[in-house]
Amino acid sequence: MGNLYDLLSQRFPADRNRPCIETAEGGVYTYADLENISGRYAQLLVQTGVGPGERVAVQVEKSPEAIFLYLACLRAGAVYLPLNTAYTTNEIAYFLGDATPRLLICRSETEAALAPVAHSAGVAHVSTLDEDGGGTWPVLAAELEPISGCVPRAPEDTAAILYTSGTTGQPKGAMLSHRNLGSCALSLHQSWGFQADDVLLHALPIYHTHGLFVATNCVLLNGTAMLFLRKFDTDEVIRLLPRATVMMGVPTFYTRLLANPAFDRAACGTMRLFISGSAPLLEETFHAFETRTGHRILERYGMTETGMNISNPLDGERRPGTVGLPLPEVEVRVADDAGAVLPVDEIGVLEVRGPNVFSGYWQRPEKTASEFRADGFFITGDVAKIDERGYIHIVGRAKDLIISGGLNIYPKEIELNIDRIAGVVESAVIGLDHPDFGEAVAAVVVRADGHPDVTDTSIINQLKGEMAGFKIPKRVFFADELPRNAMGKVQKSLLRKTYGGMLTDA
Ligand code: AMP
Repeated sequence: MGNLYDLLSQRFPADRNRPCIETAEGGVYTYADLENISGRYAQLLVQTGVGPGERVAVQVEKSPEAIFLYLACLRAGAVYLPLNTAYTTNEIAYFLGDATPRLLICRSETEAALAPVAHSAGVAHVSTLDEDGGGTWPVLAAELEPISGCVPRAPEDTAAILYTSGTTGQPKGAMLSHRNLGSCALSLHQSWGFQADDVLLHALPIYHTHGLFVATNCVLLNGTAMLFLRKFDTDEVIRLLPRATVMMGVPTFYTRLLANPAFDRAACGTMRLFISGSAPLLEETFHAFETRTGHRILERYGMTETGMNISNPLDGERRPGTVGLPLPEVEVRVADDAGAVLPVDEIGVLEVRGPNVFSGYWQRPEKTASEFRADGFFITGDVAKIDERGYIHIVGRAKDLIISGGLNIYPKEIELNIDRIAGVVESAVIGLDHPDFGEAVAAVVVRADGHPDVTDTSIINQLKGEMAGFKIPKRVFFADELPRNAMGKVQKSLLRKTYGGMLTDA
């Protein structure tokens, strides 16, 4: 298998008039549309002088045309580089300087601000694509002859560069090859049992691996349709669910659905599978979802650099609080800092190896080398354990680790205990600078309505019965909600900033 587009297009339906994308507003794009428009866009890439391996940076809103642009890059052999629409001009300047794309495609409204930045970064061309399908790019492409097929690529050639979330440190571009993306899509398509009549409800952003490679590539490989929402909206999802069979989401999608009384068993009548990932799904959410709908959410685990690695089974037991078992062809182990493999139930850093694992960070050979073991395992930075049944539990991020008085503390363990307390919705445990301990444990707690009895003292007293004293938070703060990024991840760096100075105020 070379070009990923070849793999996908081999699975397109024989009848190309079948729908591929149906927008929430009622627009329908068939597989014939997808082939034609992506073919024209690919022609325009070639005519613009974007050669194989050259980067195309794209900061546009979610739209069917943005999907066609992604496919056009594959077809032209270019490297697709999607950027979060929330990034500011300064941040874009960094990405352009780092990735040196030949072409930037942005929204009309940001063109005036971004064009000078692009030109000073040496980007040869700037074009626009808007949410409604307008912009200079589609206009220029409209009259062109679609290219047929695609430019041949070797499996190891880079298909896309995705910058990692960068919640800490400088963002790095993960280079994902045609083989990485293809193997991940094939394995998910098989493991999640995609069927000929599946319709996927797509409410995720498409600048991230979850919405772009997990959701979209599975649909294209299945040759079926997706219901395409510009963004997650609880009412819209409830309205469209009766036409869908599969939904992929971040945990926040599921908690928001549960907060809406209109979301019930009847609303899920046609659904066969709800999948969650990108952030931990609380056990409480898993159980509340099952009680309300009868569905056991299938939780999986992956990251930008690796695509998907681990998933709860479609047919076997889906165990809440775990991310499941390794996907086919993915090897997984838990090791200590020196790389020694740890026995069952011991906590260490998760390492993975397989055809899904990226080749490295763009122009950062040293950083790349430091994150791989000599035998090719990638050090994910996630802290995990493997239980006696082989299920993997993600315990936290290595950089989340709190070291207090020289003792390692995993926030997740404390969060699980706090979340079990009646009247607590959820919590985030962070380490704050402490003159004596180096770091001290603090918890930020979201309290349920009508629970004034839940106080810092009541939480601390309850925890005292459960865990060693050094793990008990020195302070408990209350918040209305936890700050999350677009992928549902709690932004602990923000919490550390907010509460950093408040540790000794008690
Ligand atoms: P990203 O590169 O933005 O996809 O973020 C990847 C990170 O998200 C992983 O390294 C994990 O820390 C986290 N993550 C993804 N899926 C899960 C999950 N099911 N449970 C816990 N953490 C997850």
